[in-house]
Order: sequence, then C-alpha cells, then structure tokens
Amino acid sequence: MPQTENVKDIHNCTVEELEVLVTELGEKKFRAKQIFGWLAKGVESFYEMHNVPMRLLVSLADRGWYAGLPEAAQVQRSADGTVKCLFRFTDGAEIESVFMKYEYGNSICISSQVGCRMGCTFCASTMDGLERNLSGGEMLAQVLAMRKLTGEDIGHVVIMGMGEPFDNYDEVIRFIRLINDRDGYDLGLRNITVSTCGVIPGIRKFAEDAPQVNLAVSLHAPNQELRERTMPAARKYGYDELMDACREYTEKTGRRITFEYALIDGVNDSEECAKELAGRVMGWLTHVNLIPLNEVSGRDYRKVQPENARRFREVLERRGVAVTVRRTLGSDIDAACGQLRRKKDHKQI
Ligand code: SF4
Repeated sequence: MPQTENVKDIHNCTVEELEVLVTELGEKKFRAKQIFGWLAKGVESFYEMHNVPMRLLVSLADRGWYAGLPEAAQVQRSADGTVKCLFRFTDGAEIESVFMKYEYGNSICISSQVGCRMGCTFCASTMDGLERNLSGGEMLAQVLAMRKLTGEDIGHVVIMGMGEPFDNYDEVIRFIRLINDRDGYDLGLRNITVSTCGVIPGIRKFAEDAPQVNLAVSLHAPNQELRERTMPAARKYGYDELMDACREYTEKTGRRITFEYALIDGVNDSEECAKELAGRVMGWLTHVNLIPLNEVSGRDYRKVQPENARRFREVLERRGVAVTVRRTLGSDIDAACGQLRRKKDHKQI
C-alpha cells in the first residue's frame, strides 16, 4: 500500500489490507473491522481502541503504524459558519480543507495533492507547483480532523481543494473506497463529488470505476482559445475532445455532469461568452455552476460584477441550461484555495 513517508498511516488501509496485517500479527480477522471502525470515529491513537487487545495495538505501534490525524496549523472561521483549516501532516506538508454549511447539510472541500502542477492562472494552489500527492488515507484524515475541529457531522465531500484529483487518480479511488466502506465512515457515493480541470483520460476511467460518484469539470471558458489563457492544461486536453469525453460520461453513467465556471471580471463573463457556453451544453444532461471568482492577491483577476453574473445566468436559463450561481461562503476569510498555505509560509502573493 502506498505510504508517503517513514510513518505508516493506518488510515490508508482498507479493511482487507488490515485483515492481512492483523492475521500476520497472529490475530483474528475481525480485529481489522474493529480498528477500521475506531479510525472512522476519529480516534487519534491506538490506545483509544478499547475493545482491541493491547498486544495487537502495541505490535502495530512497534511496527511503525500511526493513527494520528493531521495537526490544525491554522484555522479561520467565517461569520457564516465556514471553517478553513491549514492541516499539517507529519512530514510538514500543508494542505487546506474547507468546511461549509448548506441547506442540504454540511460539506467539506478536501485537497488531493500538496500543491498542484496544473498551472491555472487564477489559482494560488499552483504557484509553487506540486510538492507531493496525498494518500487516500490523508484525504480521509482531512474529513475526520475537520469533523473533530468543528464538532459537526459532515455528510458531503467535494474533492476540489488543492490539487488535480485525476493527477492522483489511484489514491482518489482509494479514498472513495475508504470513506464509502460500511464498516467505517459509510458515506454514500452520491454524496461525493470529484472535480477535475479536464483531465480526459481520468474522466473516461472514472466513468468505469466510480459511476455513482458525482463528477464536476472546471470549464471556466466557452472555447479553446480563452480556456488556454487561464488553464494551461487545456493545451493538452482540447475543448472538443473534452466535451466528447463529458458526453460519453453522461451516456455511460446516466449521471448529470456539472460544469464549473468561475466568472472573472472582463475575462470570461460577457454575454457572448454566455451564449457560446450555452451552445456547447444545451440539450444534454448537464448543470452549470457559476462561481464568482475568489480574488487571489498577486493574481490580476477580479471578481465578476453582480449584474454581469446575473446577465450571464439569464442567457443560459433562456436557452434551457440548468444553472446555479454558487453562494459565496467564507468571503471574510481567505476562501480562495491555496492562499492560507502561502500566507503561512510568509510568501508574497
Ligand atoms: S484550479 Fe485546481 S487544477 Fe487548477 S491549479 Fe488550482 S488546484 Fe490545480
């Protein structure tokens, strides 16, 4: 199983892997489910697992297994209930997770990588490139640590924080298996959303591997030329082929795809852009989520004017496109992904 450093994070083990581990240590298989269940409860040490024999727990600890959760290195709380946390793992890697309250329940946006190599020009997470991938266990640990920090249940997970999930595909699939497991956190697959910047091979594979998980694709532009200006990955994954892959996804899974569109003042928020976008997505199983861009200091982009966002939405609606404008949460804290991590390092952005 993949490990990211010298300590072996037990959150990264599936029940089956734990069964192998405990039987190798001379114990009965059912101990694996007990340990898995305790981890989902959010314990941070083996010694809190009261119904597991001490000799097994000591053996695990002696072999370098670790049950701790990441440290909350910095926490920002918004008046609207949003909580943003900079979590630090044992190797010093720092990532951000955001807890949000919606009418339908509490949600967390988690990171899948430390940094990102996709280079989107409006994003702070990519400014120092990719430091390393997160393991599936480290993604699960973000949910557990945030639940502990807020004292609130979390019923929805969005993988839309730092990193490109399909650049770390296998570990994202591992995370989904871990959090969905009935013996653990038991989160429904339909309560999980994975958001990609348009990595086409990932979209195709995801339709096979996780057809019940929601998929969101960040478009942020209605055509190739404009998309390339803000998203360098678009040079590799062209617009037409991307739309083909998205269509195939909806046909294969029968699931609606969400297109994320960050509205940036004077860049992609014109009426012409709205009409062109509508032409791209009209008539098939899609939903467009308009996101007023969170401004990132050091980047030249500004948030869309409210009247332009309204006009953009109306153009889509008139053409029968399902569209929402995302409620801006946490606007009184550093809501844009990657900003907290850079501030923490006292880097200039
Ligand atoms: S928007 Fe997402 S994919 Fe693009 S650079 Fe930021 S973290 Fe990476």
